[in-house]
Amino acid sequence: MVSQFTDNFDRSFYYLRLSITDVCNFRCTYCLPDGYKPQGVTNKSFLSLDEIRRVTRAFAAAGTEKVRLTGGEPSLRRDFTDIIAAVRENSAIRQLAVTTNGYRLARDVASWREAGLTALNVSIDSLDARQFHAITGQDKFHQVMAGIDAAFDAGFSKVKVNTVLMRDVNHHSLQTFLDWIRDRPIQLRFIELMETGEGGDLFRNHHVSGEVIRDQLLQQGWVRQLRGRSDGPAQVFCHPDYAGEIGLIMPYEKNFCASCNRLRVSAVGKLHLCLFGDGGVSLRDLLQSDDQQAELQARIAASLKTKKQTHFLHQGNTGITQNLSFIGG
Ligand code: SAM
Ligand code: SF4
Repeated sequence: MVSQFTDNFDRSFYYLRLSITDVCNFRCTYCLPDGYKPQGVTNKSFLSLDEIRRVTRAFAAAGTEKVRLTGGEPSLRRDFTDIIAAVRENSAIRQLAVTTNGYRLARDVASWREAGLTALNVSIDSLDARQFHAITGQDKFHQVMAGIDAAFDAGFSKVKVNTVLMRDVNHHSLQTFLDWIRDRPIQLRFIELMETGEGGDLFRNHHVSGEVIRDQLLQQGWVRQLRGRSDGPAQVFCHPDYAGEIGLIMPYEKNFCASCNRLRVSAVGKLHLCLFGDGGVSLRDLLQSDDQQAELQARIAASLKTKKQTHFLHQGNTGITQNLSFIGG
């Protein structure tokens, strides 16, 4: 199905990133260095199971084929497995992914898969347990790694790992990461550190372009692959000697926004047209009953006509994004 959600720059939207909670139990240096602090929103006011069902149904009816659940830490929701099942009730959503810090993986991944989860991104910034602890504030490296094994045991044939690339933290560690994916079907994705409202100093000290990784990959015989219409923005590289792949997400690269295919809905039901945009359009009043689907789609479609051509990160304008746990990175 061709997406009915399009903007003024010929972009079609097939991919919804849905935040289901702001709460997180980790304190990643680049995201929530002081830990999660409630922002006047109690747990009760995050989208309910029914609201999640309705919002994903409206997107699917307009052509969305992929949903990613994110946060905060999505797996901290007690009804997380029910949320997976509720989204997958709709067969038009062919791909349902989660981005997680991996804390609950070992315990729960098999039930997530059974409920209908099709893809998994786990955030791991270091393969050294002590450095992992220093970055996340949680001594959980071995638990997260056991979670990845559990995901393969549960039947996932491939797992994606998100690694935020940081100068003097992990930007010299490419070989360690490559050794790790030589025999494992893991797509390891280096995400360039992005500037957020609260993270200006960290950004200035640690941002490094993904080009440093790309140059090394190309020198070592890695080859770039083509991108599908609901794929994320990663440039993906493969190599005949490796079971795994490397992805590069480089939001500061020219034309990054030209291939934008995703929309975001926050944990309180606001539509965000860009991770680094402003405001957000509340959808919540139209999520209260099953018979408001047409209005909901119309509001989303109309909002899209105001989507800007690019983000303004280059000018140091990070929009309303204080940190990425807020809208869901
Ligand atoms: N808690 C989950 C996790 O960490 O996987 C999901 C939410 S987290 C905000 C989503 C992704 O955004 C993670 O992979 C995280 O590493 C990434 N992220 C957070 N802040 C970032 C920043 N300032 N720059 C680049 N990536 C960031
Ligand atoms: Fe939590 Fe994810 Fe942010 Fe880390 S990146 S603090 S795990 S929301």
